[in-house]
Amino acid sequence: MPSPIEKSAAGRAASADARAARFVVPTALLFLACLWLFVGYWTFSSRQEAVSGTEQVLRRLDYAVEEQTRRLFRMVDVFLGVADQWIADNPQRDPRSDAAFLRLIENFRRRTGDAIDIRLAGADGRLFPLVTPLSAGERPLGDDDFFRAAVGGDLRHFHIGAPQASGANGAWRIPVAHRLTQPRTDAAALVATIELSAFLALYEEVRIRPQGAIALMRRDGILLARAPHDERLIGRSVAGGELYRNLLPRAERGFGRIEQTATDALDKFVSYSVLGDLPLVLAVSAAVDDVLGHWRRQTLVIVLLALGVSVASLLAAFRLARALGELSARNAELQLLATTDQMTGVHNRHHFLSLLYHEFARERRHNTPLSLMILDLDFFKQINDGYGHAAGDEALRAFAKAAKRCLREMDALGRLGGEEFAILLPGTQVASAETVAERIRTAVAGIAIDTEFGTVRFTTSIGVTQSAADDASVDALLARADAALYTAKASGRNRVIVRLAGERHSRF
Ligand code: GH3
Ligand code: MG
Ligand code: MG
Repeated sequence: MPSPIEKSAAGRAASADARAARFVVPTALLFLACLWLFVGYWTFSSRQEAVSGTEQVLRRLDYAVEEQTRRLFRMVDVFLGVADQWIADNPQRDPRSDAAFLRLIENFRRRTGDAIDIRLAGADGRLFPLVTPLSAGERPLGDDDFFRAAVGGDLRHFHIGAPQASGANGAWRIPVAHRLTQPRTDAAALVATIELSAFLALYEEVRIRPQGAIALMRRDGILLARAPHDERLIGRSVAGGELYRNLLPRAERGFGRIEQTATDALDKFVSYSVLGDLPLVLAVSAAVDDVLGHWRRQTLVIVLLALGVSVASLLAAFRLARALGELSARNAELQLLATTDQMTGVHNRHHFLSLLYHEFARERRHNTPLSLMILDLDFFKQINDGYGHAAGDEALRAFAKAAKRCLREMDALGRLGGEEFAILLPGTQVASAETVAERIRTAVAGIAIDTEFGTVRFTTSIGVTQSAADDASVDALLARADAALYTAKASGRNRVIVRLAGERHSRF
């Protein structure tokens, strides 16, 4: 166990620096952990915000577009219903040539801005023009599933076909078949054709730019209309896409993310709905890149900033830790210089006395004994004079070394000045101290230093004392040890003299 008296104020300052150095890096790491936790939280929550904002917008858009689409088909339904009723009510009149019927159809057409046209169809699918002539692209519908289903099927269902490019300008039209309530020999169904532009105008206006899309599909996956328009996609099936495979089987209306859409192969957020009474599916989408572009740029800036702060603060922390470490080493060095006698390596006078004051107070509190001895080399002047100053220095060093060897770890040896030393023995009775002093005296007497002028030998006189309850201060203790030393000198030198409190004369 290190001696308590070895711990000085300067030593405590040096170890405080060392402790501070150890705290710098962990503190910086804690700060960085908090910083990155915040960056992570911000990144996550701002992304959630962007996605849920998009979900709301897409769902609202989906709802609005669904309403418009449904209105268009309802109009077609009403037209076909009215025309069907007229034919049922006038079985003896030929709708193909009857002026009143043709006026009715022409009015329908006008009211929709020429977007919806109506033809009559035979049971075999052959088309008969009513107001406008058939165009080159219009072919018999006998082979089309939707038409056969209409002629042979349920009155209540809408039967919608794949869009066809027709007319002189090659405009795309979606056919809708409606079986006559009272089929005639030459006509079995009414067919309305809706120009694709009727949908596209609306879809194109509201879709989320630049890469968002709005698509109308048949329940079986045939693409009817899509904005942005792409001729190659119209009439193709998207039933193999993620919307039909994963989302629709789960719910008829919803929101989700699709990794690669069947139409433009983009990563997209999609709001979709099945149009209930109509065999149609509507999908409104926004590209993930468009939605998260701003968030990604912001995140990049914040992550780069946080990286910069991290690198800078780590560098600063390591530098500070190193500087504090160096400071602590320098402090220890300075402390050693300030407390040590350079020539002999023992405590200097100032430091020894401060240890003595400290220890005196401590032993007083605990009521334990403390012994002190003062040692002075005999006839030292003669060594200097006879063998040179260097030999004198060598003798001082040899003395310190020999004395130290006789002491315990907890004892303190100090140089009071010149060739005068003192030893502090904490928790030691004077009898033990006397033994130690005697051992030192013998050891010193045995020292032999070879010089060019011959071998140097010398002795030491030692005054020993022990602290007493009525010692007013350390000075009383020092004075007593000094008096004992004086007695030792006076009574012939090379001896140990003990003097206790209250004794008028030192003991021989
Ligand atoms: P005494 O037995 O009465 O103590 O005699 P002394 O000669 O030892 O006593 P004195 O006080 O007369 O002489 C001490 C000498 O120690 C004087 C001084 O030159 C010498 N001295 C003091 N410090 C040093 C030092 O650091 N190195 C050397 N070589 N000599 C020193
Ligand atoms: Mg002397
Ligand atoms: Mg002296």
